Amino acid sequence: MVYTFEQVNEALNRFQKNQPEIKEIIAFFKEIIKMHVKVKNDLNLPSIVPDKEKTKEKLEKGFPLLELNLIPDFPQESTLLREELSKLIKKRGPLVAKNLEKIEHHLLKEDHIFVNLSQNYLLHTWLPLEDFIKTYDLDHNLLFFLIKNSVKPFIESMAERVLPTCDLSPWSEAVCPICGSLPALAFLKPIKSNGDGLINKGKEKGLSCSLCNHTWQFPRLKCPFCLTDKQDALGYFYLDNGEKGYRVDICNDCKCYIKTIDFEYCPISEELLFLEDIHTINLDLLAEKEGYSKKAEKIF
Ligand SMILES: [Zn+2]
Ligand SMILES: [Zn+2]
Repeated sequence: MVYTFEQVNEALNRFQKNQPEIKEIIAFFKEIIKMHVKVKNDLNLPSIVPDKEKTKEKLEKGFPLLELNLIPDFPQESTLLREELSKLIKKRGPLVAKNLEKIEHHLLKEDHIFVNLSQNYLLHTWLPLEDFIKTYDLDHNLLFFLIKNSVKPFIESMAERVLPTCDLSPWSEAVCPICGSLPALAFLKPIKSNGDGLINKGKEKGLSCSLCNHTWQFPRLKCPFCLTDKQDALGYFYLDNGEKGYRVDICNDCKCYIKTIDFEYCPISEELLFLEDIHTINLDLLAEKEGYSKKAEKIF
């Protein structure tokens, strides 16, 4: 899922043309992604070549590939990135700056606190994070946002390295086969025929990871959160005057939603699909208004 900042910039400018009202949000994410790309370019990670047999066994049992707890040394780059992010977030306004200062007051008391919480985040063990938030009465979304965006380029890089070395095709779980995170988005993609002409064979569904941006196939008629395949529990809706190709898939059993992007109508590449999360904030607002919640962290 390698991408350049120029590609990101071009896609975000296109979004902004369609939706001038999200101009500020786009500018904010441009800065963040610029930082991420720079960190990724400067990173000097050891090469990862997973054992073929072990990989196969792991995937068959439904375990994601990267054992994130085995990251040898927590990258120094994440700490530097956290500082940069913090400066950027504080510019968003006095309230968010105040909440972030409160977080930093507790987070930076000792060196290991940020590292420990980040490692727990990567292992999806939420309890230490929830305890930390509760003990000091902190802004939940803000702490998760800060940690996620401090470790994201590091995990993206690991995913990019590991991907060409293994076959992930048997995977059809609801979490990312590489890093084990929840999907941020779903997508529909026309199935191409092997012959010359494009025969309409319908569409396949896939999910896009909220952390490493990897995309993988997933059954079309199944909730990616509670895994129900009861057809009367599943549905979707879209904005009345919204762009074609965007919809919200909902589950009435677990009351969760996921935004779904149809590649047939949306001019975005699979590498840049993760950017659609920024583009479709209006769909999040609509879904929340209808009483559904997002399982992966909110981007904002
Ligand atoms: Zn992932
Ligand atoms: Zn569900």
